[in-house]
Order: sequence, then structure tokens, then C-alpha cells
Amino acid sequence: MNGPVGITVSGSGRGDGSLGWTSARAAVAGGHGPVRSLYVHTPFCVHKCHYCDFYSFVDQRDQQGAFVERLIEELRAQAPLASGAPLRTIFVGGGTPSLLREDVWRRLLSEMNGLFDLSLIRSGAGEFTVECNPESATAELLGVLRAGGVNRVSMGAQSFEARHLRTLERRHDPERVAEALDLAARAGVERRSIDLIYAVPGQTLAEWEADVRRALALGTTHLSCYNLTYEPNTAMTVRLKRGEFTPVDDDLEADMFELAGALLAERGLERYEVSNYALGGIRGGQACAHNLAYWRQESWLAAGPSASGHVWAGPDRRAGGHRWKNAPNLGAYLAQSDGGYAPVAEHEAPDRARAVRERIMTGVRLSEGLDAAEVMADAEAAEPGSGTRLAAAAAELEADGWLASASGRWRVTARGWLGADFVARKLMGCVGVA
Ligand code: SF4
Repeated sequence: MNGPVGITVSGSGRGDGSLGWTSARAAVAGGHGPVRSLYVHTPFCVHKCHYCDFYSFVDQRDQQGAFVERLIEELRAQAPLASGAPLRTIFVGGGTPSLLREDVWRRLLSEMNGLFDLSLIRSGAGEFTVECNPESATAELLGVLRAGGVNRVSMGAQSFEARHLRTLERRHDPERVAEALDLAARAGVERRSIDLIYAVPGQTLAEWEADVRRALALGTTHLSCYNLTYEPNTAMTVRLKRGEFTPVDDDLEADMFELAGALLAERGLERYEVSNYALGGIRGGQACAHNLAYWRQESWLAAGPSASGHVWAGPDRRAGGHRWKNAPNLGAYLAQSDGGYAPVAEHEAPDRARAVRERIMTGVRLSEGLDAAEVMADAEAAEPGSGTRLAAAAAELEADGWLASASGRWRVTARGWLGADFVARKLMGCVGVA
């Protein structure tokens, strides 16, 4: 079992002593509504992929019923923070949400429709995404999801090349991706996104191009392209250290990133975040509204083991918000309930400087960039002197070609997309350092 780390929430947890846990009740109760987004984490997978560091494990199909009942209890506790306002976005991720049985999904969706106002979502103005694995996205399941309000699926294709799927230890047939997307379309799920991974050991630029073209041929209006990263404590990293393969070199990885941007732009799918592309870009109606809520530092509720949430502490967003992460531990999740709230692994209390740094960190990665005057003013309010430091750092980044300033916004340049993390680090280093 994983024990929670760094718990700082004060409040009403009634821990059993073995984990020293406390719950997210204090964080959420201290939040300011109405919250308009919700993330739900399901931990089950058919197999643990070698690169994965999400909280997930192999499903024995014997805990799904208990899990969903506990999830409903947690959602019931959090629902009041939506204050009856219609939710704009829901995202069910994991793990592999499409692995939940249809009866389990029916139960969950029925409760969610009762606990929250899904009218915006049902009208099409809101977004309800479920991550799907190509193998488990059956016609029956997709029908259940659609009936429950789901209007977007994110299909984990990762690659159309069986050899690369084997390297990643992804166990689906690449031919199944088209079929699953077709089933989603037939079920009436209007928006269908595809996830791809590049820089897989042994992958060539031509193979990556073929993957992107295959995804485009499926008519997708949204694509997420993530480079393979070697996270600590994953099987992939152990294999790398053992010398079982050679990672793709940095130049080739950069070529893959740029090639994806060029190929997708030709078809109208613009990069609106470092790793995400949508037809018409950020305002074309196809960008992931839920992820935009994260990247714009909105409030969102979070339920399920390892789920992370964020709620503003008050009407003045400059004051910052509470962040928490539920303990990544299904046993603890099932066994412990603080009025429905789950045990937490981490909590960060509101902090003005941190709020500015977080806005920079995610804002730099977006095509819309940052409102320069606003971020400088908020930085200055959080820590006198930091607004001036930010202005100087931005001018330096602009002179070096990483950042462009136009219409009052700082946006990364074509070169800056590749170095967005560097740009963000440099700007973030100006705030909260005194
Ligand atoms: S399917 Fe996704 S969540 Fe599950 S092990 Fe693979 S990468 Fe991780």
C-alpha cells in the first residue's frame, strides 16, 4: 500500500492511525464555488504499460462495484461546491475508464446526473470526456456512455505500429483504433480525440509521420502527441538503465515534434498547447475544454484515488487556491471516508506567489500565452519587485527569440514551443524568490 506523503491539510480526518491520513474535506470546504469542472480517476487497467506512472493496476474485475459505490459517496460530498450551477466539463481518466463494466457505468452516470446539473453538457455547450482503450470501447459501452451524457472520447491509440506498441507494452491491436472510433461515432459521441506517443525507442521520423497521417485519416479533430518520458520507478526506466534499448536522441525528438506541428497545421489542426492540437486551434470548439480549465488555473473537483483537485479559496483569484491529491491507494480509498471525502496524499494551501507561478507554468504552454500586464501586476502584489523582474526576464526571452510580445500578451515563438519549459522556468523564477 502507498502511504500518503506531505499531508498538511488541517481538519476533520478521522484517520485509523496506520496511515496518518486526513481528508480533502478541509480543502474543499474552504473552496469558493461554484466549481464548474470535475475530474474522476478510475484506477483499473488490463495490464500495466511499461512507461506508465499513473496510479493504475491490473483489474481483477472484483472491486469495480465497491469502487463505484465509494466514488458516488465522494461525489455526493463534493457536489455542493458546484452550488447547483451546471458543470462545464467532466473528464473521466485513469487507468482505463472503458474497462469499467456497463452496469457499473450505468450506476455511476445515473448518480452523476442526479448530483450535478449536466444541462450544459447535454446541450453540447459543455464537455464530458471519457478516456477509452481501443479494445474495451465496445458498442454497448459507448451506447451507455452516450446515454449518460458523454459527448467526447479520448482514444489511447499511442501508435499504429505494432512493434512500437510492444515496446511500450501496450496490448491492443492497432487496427482496433479505427473500429472503436467508428463505434463511438455510431453511438453519437460527437467529439473523438486520439492520443499518440512519439520518440519510442527505435522509431524513425518516417514511422512517426505515418502515425500522424493514420490519425488524420481517421478524421480526428483533436490530437494529443506526447513524447515518451522516462518516469522514475517505471518498468521502462528500469529497462533503459539496464541498457535494453537506446532512447531517441534529442534532435530526432525535436524533428518529430516539429513534423507533427507541420502535418497537422496543413489539415487545420493547430497546436494550442505544447502537446495538443485541435481543428481551428484554441477557439475552434474542438480544444479540450477540461484541460483548458486546468491550464487556465480554474477550479475543479476531483474524485477517485490519486485524483488531484484545485479550488479557489475566495472570489479574489489572486489569493490562490487549495490544491490536493487523493491518496493513490484503492484500499485506503475504500476503507476510509471522512463524510465521503477521501484520504489525501498532498495538500497545498492558498499562496499568492504560487498561484502566479502556476499560471505562468501552464500559460506559457498555451497558444494564447499570458496577459503580460495582469501577470506582472499579480506577481507584484504577491511579492514586491517580482513584477519588475518578470518584465526584465520576458524582455530577455524576447531578445533571444523564445517569446513574442503582441497585443499585450506573451506568447512563445515557433522556437519557443520546443523550449516552453525553459521559458516557464525562467519566468517562474522571478516570483516568490525573495
Ligand atoms: S492503459 Fe494508460 S493508465 Fe493503464 S497502464 Fe497503460 S498507460 Fe497506464
